[in-house]
Amino acid sequence: MTIASVIVDVPAKQTDRPFDYVIPDHLVEVVKPGMRVIVPFGPRKIQGFVIAVKPESDFGKLKELIEPMDITPILNQELLALGEWLTYETLCYKISAFQVMLPAALKAKYEKKLKLSAEETNLPAEIRAVLGLDEMIPWEEAVKSGCLNLLQKEVANGTVEIIYEVKERVKKKKLKHIWTNRSKQQLAAEKENLPVQAAKQKEVIDFFLQADAPVELRKLLSELGISSSTIKGLLQKGILEEKEMEVYRDPFGERVFSHTEPLPLTADQQKAITPILETIKEIKHQTFLLYGVTGSGKTEIYLQSIQKVLQQGREAIVLVPEISLTPQMVKRFKGRFGNAVAVLHSGLSAGEKYDEWRKIQKREVKVVVGARSAIFAPFENLGIIIIDEEHETSYKQEDNPRYHARNVAIKRGATHQCPVVLGSATPSLESFARAQKGVYTLLSMPNRMNNQALPGVEIIDMREELREGNRSMFSRLLLEKIEDRLEKKEQIVLFLNKRGHSSFVMCRDCGYVVNCPNCDISLTYHRANQRMKCHYCGYEAHVPNSCPECSSEHIRYFGTGTQKVEEELVKILPHAKVIRMDVDTTSRKGSHEKLLDQFQEGHADILLGTQMIAKGLDFPNITLVGVLSADTMLHLPDFRSSEKTFQLLTQVSGRAGRHEKEGEVIIQTYTPEHYSVELAGEQDFDRFYEKEMMVRKIHKYPPFYYISLITVSHEELMKTVSITEKITAYIRSRLSNEAICLGPVASPIPRINNRYRYQCLIKYKREPELNLAMKKILDQYQQEISLGGLQISVDVNPYILM
Ligand code: ADP
Ligand code: ZN
Ligand code: ZN
Repeated sequence: MTIASVIVDVPAKQTDRPFDYVIPDHLVEVVKPGMRVIVPFGPRKIQGFVIAVKPESDFGKLKELIEPMDITPILNQELLALGEWLTYETLCYKISAFQVMLPAALKAKYEKKLKLSAEETNLPAEIRAVLGLDEMIPWEEAVKSGCLNLLQKEVANGTVEIIYEVKERVKKKKLKHIWTNRSKQQLAAEKENLPVQAAKQKEVIDFFLQADAPVELRKLLSELGISSSTIKGLLQKGILEEKEMEVYRDPFGERVFSHTEPLPLTADQQKAITPILETIKEIKHQTFLLYGVTGSGKTEIYLQSIQKVLQQGREAIVLVPEISLTPQMVKRFKGRFGNAVAVLHSGLSAGEKYDEWRKIQKREVKVVVGARSAIFAPFENLGIIIIDEEHETSYKQEDNPRYHARNVAIKRGATHQCPVVLGSATPSLESFARAQKGVYTLLSMPNRMNNQALPGVEIIDMREELREGNRSMFSRLLLEKIEDRLEKKEQIVLFLNKRGHSSFVMCRDCGYVVNCPNCDISLTYHRANQRMKCHYCGYEAHVPNSCPECSSEHIRYFGTGTQKVEEELVKILPHAKVIRMDVDTTSRKGSHEKLLDQFQEGHADILLGTQMIAKGLDFPNITLVGVLSADTMLHLPDFRSSEKTFQLLTQVSGRAGRHEKEGEVIIQTYTPEHYSVELAGEQDFDRFYEKEMMVRKIHKYPPFYYISLITVSHEELMKTVSITEKITAYIRSRLSNEAICLGPVASPIPRINNRYRYQCLIKYKREPELNLAMKKILDQYQQEISLGGLQISVDVNPYILM
């Protein structure tokens, strides 16, 4: 008998272990570990993952497995083991750990089909019979045919392919394309017939003499630098024609990337890359922290390290934060490695993501550039893992499994015996501390390319501005500098941070912010009825006439949104052309890119935006960066708020003067004395690190202590408190004296959607029993949780403490 051990798709305590099934004879050769299968479970048929195939089982009376869902394993042995590890590390169910590693298409609704992928003459007769005359048949028919094992061999040979057609309800976009019916000779003749002064039209014809497919109108215009009237003339003459065509592929995919060659490295780069190349050569695992200021040339180090890895016949994963996954970024990797690069980003549809994933599985690509989940790319021969902007909190997943991509990277790096490179200009405190202790190897690049100066940063005290009678949201200096740049035809970036879109009420004399009495979160100003409202609990109040803190009358709504800033800009600088980038203007696919392109091409003077413009921008003509208000993030109840403020301000400042022209940065703030604002102004990470480490040490936070957070929520306050109390008592009983268990206390946002929230925060250095204890709690309350009344979340190393 052959037995399959299966993790079934029922996320619950009782089912969080393998169940054994007999593999029916005709499937014995087919079913392999890492495949999904359909199995009977009670009265139902459900999905599961085969984690092992074995000759016998400890259980009697086994049911038979029904059928496989995949023709080849979709998780390899390494990823299966990684799933087990994730389960332990993040306290999730095994099934969730396996699911998170799959591309979305395999979790969505799809139709599965088998397709003949090559004209194969000596295909076995059985398979010919199954396929019939069609090139493609539904999976169900293949299963019924009883020759899955033969098909499997053909899949391995590459003659048969498996296709997942995702049922997507995405509307297909149609765009105007230009094409011609004329033959090349006819076109050439038409060109001769055009009058001499129609030079532009001749250029267009030249273009179509080369082209072999319709071109999108917009692209044609920008490529040739012509106006639509030129095209119109040719359309009227009947030489060209216009048609609506579907566009749906990945915005990066269809571009042609001009090839780039490795640059000769600077001395700093050489010094930094040498130890990385050594570990690649020796096939050794080591974690590096590449700490290099913005513009120091980290990306070139990534590229040349990857090149070495490819020469060895191994593969590379590059993680970048979702918002930095811009065409500019992609271009740098595709430019160097061409089609060997797959890109995984959220702008892709599930089907497109699956296409990219399949390229990885089929060994068609060697390099993956992607956001967090790309860390699970199913490469089997990894030679390097790179995490750019390693301090970004988006590398932590906030749903189950709550994994941090950095930890997964280091785990995989150890398995594959390859280096992991963490890069940043403002490393996370945790990583920098590990580098200081020698757990990671520190590689520093303190200088910009060609020793270019970092931009000068000026901090403006907005309270002072007000005292001197300036009530505008622009300080006098910033305005002066903007006008100067407009005159010089240089470009300006104005930055409004994340929560800038929700206006809050603040005293402009003392900086007091009006908070919700229940939620410890600032109230949002609603213009329509002149009231302040809490977005979490619904509390409402009138705007006070004077500041409760200092009695000043200069209390009013603040943190104006990008839209408001744009209005004001237009008012005071009517000649300036402004591009606004925020969630509203970039929600459509590709719009992000389009706006950036427009800015790069010089169609605007000022780029105004939220944090999405903080990263990756690298345009030579930007010489002024203005931060309208540095403070908003400092008010968050989070021990990382200073760190995040420092990082963001440093990142934004790094956007200016990256090329020949010198850059300048102006940071406006109501708390200029705060060390994270002050030291960001000096771009002094080392001093910030020292200062912040002291604060963390005093308050017993990471990196001195680990933390875990248990949050309990329920509609009844008493119940919430009493359960949190029990949990806290239990946890406490399982911890050593060295650990600190804070709770039960109300969460920083103590009530959301009418559910009370209480928490227990655990700070510890080494508590081998803690994970087990927390798992016990989840198991204990599982029934109440699954009935929906109670929610308990356990977050090991949380990034959101609210
Ligand atoms: P970082 O990623 O550290 O912010 P980049 O990799 O973007 O820095 O490098 C900044 C600029 O310097 C880029 O325009 C890059 O092309 C250029 N650059 C990097 N390395 C070299 C080199 N060795 N020689 C010349 N130019 C380089
Ligand atoms: Zn005040
Ligand atoms: Zn509230």
